[in-house]
Amino acid sequence: MTLRLHDTATRTVRDFLPLTPGKAGLYLCGATVQAPPHIGHIRSGVSFDICVRWLKASGLEVTFCRNVTDIDDKILLTARAEGSPWWAVAERNQRAFTRAYDVLGCLPPDVEPRATGHTPEMIALIGRLVDSGHAYPAGGDVYFDISSYDRYGALSGQRPEHMRAADDIEDGSAKRDPRDFALWKGHKSGEPSWETPWGAGRPGWHLECSAMATKYLGATFDIHGGGLDLVFPHHENEVAQSKAAGDGFARYWLHNGLVRLGGEKMSKSLGNSLLVDAMVAQVRPVELRYYLGQVHYRSDIEYSQEALAEAAAAYRRIEGFVVRVSEGAGTGTGQTLVSGLPPVSSLPAAFAAALDDDLAVPQALAVVHEAVTEGNTALAAGDQAGAAKQAESVRAMLAVLGLDPLAGPWITAGDSGLRDVVAALVSVALGQREAARARRDYAAADAIRAQLHAGGIVVEDTPAGPRWELAR
Ligand SMILES: [Zn+2]
Repeated sequence: MTLRLHDTATRTVRDFLPLTPGKAGLYLCGATVQAPPHIGHIRSGVSFDICVRWLKASGLEVTFCRNVTDIDDKILLTARAEGSPWWAVAERNQRAFTRAYDVLGCLPPDVEPRATGHTPEMIALIGRLVDSGHAYPAGGDVYFDISSYDRYGALSGQRPEHMRAADDIEDGSAKRDPRDFALWKGHKSGEPSWETPWGAGRPGWHLECSAMATKYLGATFDIHGGGLDLVFPHHENEVAQSKAAGDGFARYWLHNGLVRLGGEKMSKSLGNSLLVDAMVAQVRPVELRYYLGQVHYRSDIEYSQEALAEAAAAYRRIEGFVVRVSEGAGTGTGQTLVSGLPPVSSLPAAFAAALDDDLAVPQALAVVHEAVTEGNTALAAGDQAGAAKQAESVRAMLAVLGLDPLAGPWITAGDSGLRDVVAALVSVALGQREAARARRDYAAADAIRAQLHAGGIVVEDTPAGPRWELAR
């Protein structure tokens, strides 16, 4: 079965046929670094991390480019409000985004271009558009002439006559048409600016992504991703300016659903309590990742504490099984610290088929949960080999979803070393408890169990002997 993806441009799920066999180029609109990320921002990172992992597991050599918009109206507004330089605001928030991607286990992109490092490419693109009659300088700005591109509106499925004015510039009076959008914004006092043949100024947001995507992935590339809220105007404008300039641009458009709070798109004012830094102080990062990644990437998430708690419980059930089997095997934790991706051939066919079907994670997770149920049944029957087989399969599937509890970043070299030390100490204590029981000194046996419990170790007596785990 081949991978099929939902393409926003055609509104259909269609076969993914890479431009170059064996390779895939993916551009994801990353952070506009005016504030630290809340879970609405980072959901896109998790969704596309699963996409990248699946492309890689499918044997494709992936080039993943995720940009940083480090110059933008909102960054300048934040800087002005707090009296900081614009670049300090951008740096600080970029660090917060990087921390959030890392803490949630998103693989780093192959390249993470910043807009301010790519003004020569942007100026070259504007030059091509002006020369070919698709853009015009006016009042110190440079605008894209939407009437010059007859497919304007095709990506978002709108007719130009029904579109609102582009509100990307405060005084748009120099525009020929209110819907024309700014490729370049003329210099204003107190703002950073770069020199161009049309005067000094700074880039428009849409232009930044077109210039960076084609620089790293080529004039025509495979996949462009982003949140559903970016389809219009951001992506519509990217397509227009790139195709009008003669580039093939993205061949597939993938959009993730949004995180909503009380039915509304999460905004800065609504989302302060849901900043990633604040969230991972309340729940384990791996549980937050499970919560954000478990739904289909195209569905919206209505945030609730209850749903988060349910997701965490579901993950702990899977994790508990994997950890129990690895501890029972008596060979340390069996962890792989480097997150390797298993080849598709080692995965259950139903799991692979689910991900091939437009990255259907809910169906893929159903296969994981079934394997955990079978594995737990095997454990209860004392069938350690049967349980180990299921655990291996579960871990391979979890690796594809970035959720293997015994792989990095969820377990570190320090953790695994300590786990072995803890395992040795607990085994000494359990030996003494068995000895106390053997001599019918149940008070001493209970005291050992209570002391372990006070230290955060839960002991459970099973037909196969006592087993333990860290209290969670
Ligand atoms: Zn973008």
